[in-house]
Amino acid sequence: MRAVVRFVPEKAILQLVQLEPQARAAPPRTKGEFLYLLAVSRRILGQKADSGRLAEELLALGRQHQDKVLIAKGLLAKAYYEFAVNKLAESHRLAWEAERIANTTDNMALRVQATITSGHSYSEEGNLPAALKKLQEAVALARAYGKPTQMVMALNALAIHYGRLKEFDKGFETLDEAFTVAASINSPGRMAMLKNAEYGLSVESGQYDRGLKALLEAHALERSIGAESMIVGSLVDLSDSYLKKGDYASTASYALQAIAAARRLHDAGNEATARVNLGQAYLGRGKLAEGKREFEAGLAVYEQSGDKPELQAVLAEYGEALERAGDLAGAVKAYHRERALSDELFEKRRQKAMLELQEKYDAETKQRQIELLRRDNQVKSTEIDNRRLQQRVWWLLMLVFAMGSMIVYALYRKVREANAQLEVKNLELKQQSSRDPLTGLYNRRHFQEFMRGHLQIEQRGAGTSGEEIVGALFLLDVDHFKHVNDGHGHAAGDAVLKMISDNLREILRETDMIVRWGGEEFLAFLPAIPRSGIDDIARRLLEGISEQRIDYQGARLSVSVSVGYAPFPLIPARDPLPWERAVNLVDMALYLAKAHGRNRAYGVHGFANFEQTSMEAIEQDLERTWRGGFVDMKVVLGDDTHARPAKWQHEAADARAAEAAS
Ligand code: GH3
Ligand code: MG
Ligand code: MG
Repeated sequence: MRAVVRFVPEKAILQLVQLEPQARAAPPRTKGEFLYLLAVSRRILGQKADSGRLAEELLALGRQHQDKVLIAKGLLAKAYYEFAVNKLAESHRLAWEAERIANTTDNMALRVQATITSGHSYSEEGNLPAALKKLQEAVALARAYGKPTQMVMALNALAIHYGRLKEFDKGFETLDEAFTVAASINSPGRMAMLKNAEYGLSVESGQYDRGLKALLEAHALERSIGAESMIVGSLVDLSDSYLKKGDYASTASYALQAIAAARRLHDAGNEATARVNLGQAYLGRGKLAEGKREFEAGLAVYEQSGDKPELQAVLAEYGEALERAGDLAGAVKAYHRERALSDELFEKRRQKAMLELQEKYDAETKQRQIELLRRDNQVKSTEIDNRRLQQRVWWLLMLVFAMGSMIVYALYRKVREANAQLEVKNLELKQQSSRDPLTGLYNRRHFQEFMRGHLQIEQRGAGTSGEEIVGALFLLDVDHFKHVNDGHGHAAGDAVLKMISDNLREILRETDMIVRWGGEEFLAFLPAIPRSGIDDIARRLLEGISEQRIDYQGARLSVSVSVGYAPFPLIPARDPLPWERAVNLVDMALYLAKAHGRNRAYGVHGFANFEQTSMEAIEQDLERTWRGGFVDMKVVLGDDTHARPAKWQHEAADARAAEAAS
């Protein structure tokens, strides 16, 4: 059947169409084989679209059943179809894919066929070494397989390829082997195929007679099996051959047969070639009009099919033939057409090149623009990044500044608070340093500081102020204070001291300065009192203190004090006495009060007959100078009605006597 399909497809078609209902219901392999044969037949007969559809159907069937053999056959059928419709690249791709898949199967016939087709594809692609390698592989595969049919096919393909490679010896050698194998299988079709190959190799190698002989043999074989499509081809080739020999009669005869056979098969291409050959024959025999008619008919087909290179070649032949026939005008016309076509083709090629160049240029320009844009974008995004960074830095700075401000403010507040606290503390400290902790009265140091300032004021104001208002110093010492401590304990003594200090605050004014001078000694400085009131103050002090009682742990305690006092400042002659000497004098007066019986006050009011004495003398012995009449001293007695030890009563009486005496 394969041979029938290949060499007599018009017969095969009839059988196949009859088989169709049965074949389509058959198992996948059978159905697939049927589809393949039908596709090939239709393609050889020029029914290209149908062939393509059948190839697709076969491929789908193979994929549906995951049948690699059917898939490879489908791909091959499709590759042949694509080749027929001039889609060479796609055809090659399919052929190689078919070979790859076929080689994963153990179907040797299929593998040989696919390898041959793959080799053809390389050859058509122009990759002649690859093609040679493939076809040699195909021969090796077929040899290993051992089936003559495949051997013949592979050797035939390899021989033709050697022809292309101009390796005619190898070509003929290969062909010889093919003939030997073919002889064993009695296949006129295949033999005709080999004879055609021999014709090709012979013509190409310049052996025209051998070529013609082989061609005639091929033709006879084709006729013997009624291989119509092959017959058309060999008829055309025969007309060609005789044309080359200058045998116009034979040329015309074969050309006419070829035209008739081609028409039967609707083979426009072969008909056109045959017509051109016929035209040549007519022209060769001087039949100008007929020759031109046939030539033009053939040219029309080429024009219609758009095969411009072929058209151009034929036009050149036409011109030469007309020239030979003496139709110079026609020849020129033909040459003009040929030239125009050549120009057109050249222009087309130029345009194509231009277009390709333009495309390339456009692509490059676009690439450049893209590159520029990319760079621009990069710059912009860098700028944006920078700006963002700047903004971030600003935010950070602001944050740092704000936080800094907050910290500074907090620190400032802390410092202010600390300062305020410090001020309070300082005040407390100052108070502490100027106050006596037990009584809360001023201490001696404070008084000293105060007197330094006060003295200056007094010195300034001395002699101008009124004489009646003076300052005054009172120094008090508790009488027999040891007894309190000894009899009731130190704490009782403390309580008494506190009582006295409270008392002094009551007796004196707020503006008066009361100082704890020593252990149980108190000093009071009264800044402004009438001079005549000083003794009264002394009395009030004596009485105020001795009248007071405190209950301490069941005991009623009371004490008296002795007082020395003087107005301040004291001005013995011209200059006022410094406060230290004034206090010292008051202390001496207090000593006198003690010495003369206690619970009394001795006040130095001034000096008399001062020119007859000196301050030093007075300070050395107050009592003597008082008795000498140099000191104006006043004695104030305390109230002795208060309960006190008997010996004190006695002393008090002594004192009163002394007072009376003075
Ligand atoms: P006089 O002054 O009348 O001569 O007799 P006196 O007992 O007061 O004698 P003197 O002045 O010599 O003694 C004072 C005593 O006062 C001595 C000391 O123990 C006591 N004294 C001093 N300071 C304090 C004090 O702060 N608290 C107590 N409880 N006693 C003190
Ligand atoms: Mg004392
Ligand atoms: Mg005392």
